Amino acid sequence: MTSIFEKEYKYCPTCREKLIRSTIDNKQLLNCKKCGFVFWNNPKPVVSTLIEKDGNVLMLKRAQEPFKGHWVLPGGFVDYDEEPEAAAIREFKEEAGLNIQIESVISAYRIGNDPRGVHIDIVYVGRAGGKPKLDAKDFAKYGYFPLDRLPDKIAYKHREVIINWRKWLHE
Ligand SMILES: [Zn+2]
Repeated sequence: MTSIFEKEYKYCPTCREKLIRSTIDNKQLLNCKKCGFVFWNNPKPVVSTLIEKDGNVLMLKRAQEPFKGHWVLPGGFVDYDEEPEAAAIREFKEEAGLNIQIESVISAYRIGNDPRGVHIDIVYVGRAGGKPKLDAKDFAKYGYFPLDRLPDKIAYKHREVIINWRKWLHE
């Protein structure tokens, strides 16, 4: 299965031989016949955190592409040497200026609509106190939205995340 977002590389990052595509584990994968390198092209993990306050969810409006003008839950990429929960705490601090406590994982979703690649979004629910202080370079504003009145433009699968979370709360 290939998607328009699938990355193509020409040369082996280990030995610089030209990569070819062959069938490995029933998938058509780029690999190196000289050193055995296989480009598995796995999705990258990202984290997002839902903070609810008096029935409203905190969201940020993106000021940069991709998804400029769309609302998101605070979050981002997990560093190579970082626990996902630590990444969620770090990203929330960087983007919204708040120290949060993680309560639990809500779910994990495949994000297939991001031009940077395919991601697995691990979504947490947490608590925070205080007033957000935005990273003004990446975000235009923040807002608290009632769980049943979300903004029109929401990036990734964050609308689905919030709707499912709301269902669980009321079941
Ligand atoms: Zn190689």
